[in-house]
Amino acid sequence: MKIEHEALKRMFYDKCAENGLKITPQRSLIFDELSKATDHPTADAIYQRVRKRLSNISFDTVYRTLLSFTEIGIISLVEGTGEQKRFEPNLHRHHHFRCIKCYTIFDFEHDAYDNIAVPDAVQKQGVVINKRVVLEGICSKCKGK
Ligand SMILES: [Zn+2]
Ligand SMILES: [Zn+2]
Repeated sequence: MKIEHEALKRMFYDKCAENGLKITPQRSLIFDELSKATDHPTADAIYQRVRKRLSNISFDTVYRTLLSFTEIGIISLVEGTGEQKRFEPNLHRHHHFRCIKCYTIFDFEHDAYDNIAVPDAVQKQGVVINKRVVLEGICSKCKGK
């Protein structure tokens, strides 16, 4: 996990440098909080966490930073769910199981899904650069209620 974090940090520095994004203490901190997150947080959730360590940061700064991170590929956006934007720090190939009650998104890996074929109809519509399977259902926590 330690090595993983170092690698992430390096990726962060590299991508920022490549894209001319200056590394400020705020950006570092936001990235830090993001890289620890496993809950596909909203901008607001990240803001709440960052604010604990940097009390004078504004929501706007956090939000704009998240969008620039997304633009240069440091993080990605969770596919549209009709809710608030949710950010994805996990750049490893993975899939999602999403609870329709509590909106928790669980990551999982599954080789067979990585290798699904792109249907001809989609190939006519454009070029696929990312494949993710999204399963929806009710998580065990919600099911137990
Ligand atoms: Zn749930
Ligand atoms: Zn994910």
